Amino acid sequence: MMILDADIKAQLAQYLQLMEGDVLLKVSAGSDDVSRDMLALVDELATMSPNIKVEKTQLQRTPSFSVNRIGEDTGVTFAGTPLGHEFTSLVLALLQVSGRAPKVDQKVIDQVKSIQGEYHFESYISLSCHNCPDVVQALNLMSILNPGITHTMIDGAVFKEEVESKEIMAVPTIFLNGEPFGSGRMTLEEILAKMGNGPDASELSDKDPYDVLVVGGGPAGASAAIYAARKGIRTGIVAERFGGQVMDTMGIENFISVKYTEGRKLVASLEEHLKEYDIDVINLQRAKRLEKKDLIEVELENGAVLKSKTVILSTGARWRNIGVPGEAEFKNKGVAYCPHCDGPLFEGKHVAVIGGGNSGIEAAIDLAGIVKHVTVLEFMPELKADAVLQERLYSLPNVTVLKNVQTKEITGTDKVNGISYIDRETGEEQHIELQGVFVQIGLVPNTEWVCETIECNRFGEIIVDKHGATNIPGVFAAGDCTDSAYKQIIISMGSGATAALGAFDYLIRN
Ligand SMILES: Cc1cc2nc3c(=O)[nH]c(=O)nc-3n(C[C@H](O)[C@H](O)[C@H](O)COP(=O)(O)OP(=O)(O)OC[C@H]3O[C@@H](n4cnc5c(N)ncnc54)[C@H](O)[C@@H]3O)c2cc1C
Repeated sequence: MMILDADIKAQLAQYLQLMEGDVLLKVSAGSDDVSRDMLALVDELATMSPNIKVEKTQLQRTPSFSVNRIGEDTGVTFAGTPLGHEFTSLVLALLQVSGRAPKVDQKVIDQVKSIQGEYHFESYISLSCHNCPDVVQALNLMSILNPGITHTMIDGAVFKEEVESKEIMAVPTIFLNGEPFGSGRMTLEEILAKMGNGPDASELSDKDPYDVLVVGGGPAGASAAIYAARKGIRTGIVAERFGGQVMDTMGIENFISVKYTEGRKLVASLEEHLKEYDIDVINLQRAKRLEKKDLIEVELENGAVLKSKTVILSTGARWRNIGVPGEAEFKNKGVAYCPHCDGPLFEGKHVAVIGGGNSGIEAAIDLAGIVKHVTVLEFMPELKADAVLQERLYSLPNVTVLKNVQTKEITGTDKVNGISYIDRETGEEQHIELQGVFVQIGLVPNTEWVCETIECNRFGEIIVDKHGATNIPGVFAAGDCTDSAYKQIIISMGSGATAALGAFDYLIRN
């Protein structure tokens, strides 16, 4: 049986040539369909490279297979068939186990190697989840580098009972030594920080003052930092999660001059571009206080205080919560925000999408292809989404649109079992039984921590002038956290550049 198509096989053959040593795949298979696919995949790999050996065995889960050095288990296991978005994870695991060096900072590699103790990770994924490979690849690499660490990737669609019993309703969900560890996309650095292996506060506080300190590492912040560094001034950038919303974005078709790219790819390019300059990048640190003294001080959650002559705030935005009972309680237990990531977990089920704007209707169309039925709830009497999207939506047989309704509560016991809403015309309350709710009602700026010091509008957006300046001299802002009319990647990059040039202008005048 052929499991890989000709194009993929041709690409794969090139990658497999990069293997630097032998790899032993230990395979635990049964007589089910997934086992058959998995065996076909493994056999196909073995025929493609003399470096790949296969051995039948019994592992904790069937179907699964582990990727090992000859004579030494690495702890890297795939439970299910790693095709779809996880195919790259498999290829990387083969190359890295064979001895090929990963493309990761040596500092990070040393950090992983130095971890003491036993850490057994399990990550639950879906093959259509674009946030999952980051996590799988990071955990695999940790297992390969450190003999105390193991990682099993588990395809939730194959191990349904396990997913149900652990009540997993969002992917990726990570367990460490049997306990919940985290969910959502996480980079290697983020996992290390969460394990308590990040830099400490005193190390950060000892840094010399900057000329420009950028707070936020999305497209606005990256652009601001590059523009500042190109002026030859001391530039730092501190971000809770480098890449920002772009990390959660699939396809991007409106980043002008690039016909099509993907969020992760764009973030990798941003990172690469930053590295071309002498920019002090502090990732995985959240700012919590800003104060103007002689210099401007930015205090981080870990207590460190960074100082700078000017600051550019580019903290972006996050999904808006609907704020009804049940939302927080059932988050990841049926309440979700990323249809592309979590949609497959609701296969064959009934879900609601709250919000009739572009993102809500796009989500509903996307979900209708996977789930049994989608109910859209819109507060206003009309949907706000573009006409083409509405047309597409109304053409689908398994979608119901409820307009002029107010969501009252997301109900459930241990997970979501329904949604209650009020018909705004009649005032009557209705309840629908369903298993999932996707909240798609827009974004809120990440500015709560600065709006006491800096002037913001009623939406919490930082008010800036045409130079990107705020009301506090020396403090500038850019991107989705500001009162700019539109929120887009290219717009935030432009405003990041404006703010950096504004800050440079301020520095030469003061
Ligand atoms: C699902 C999705 C799809 C999208 N698709 C497109 C598209 O196709 N095309 C397009 O042009 N736009 C798209 N957008 C919009 C686009 O992603 C945003 O306009 C853009 O990312 C804004 O950039 P930003 O740098 O201002 O903020 P963000 O990208 O939000 O980045 C904010 C940064 O600040 C950090 N941060 C936040 N608070 C703090 C703090 N207190 N301390 C330190 N750091 C902090 C964050 O970790 C992050 O690094 C999409 C958005 C989403 C959510």
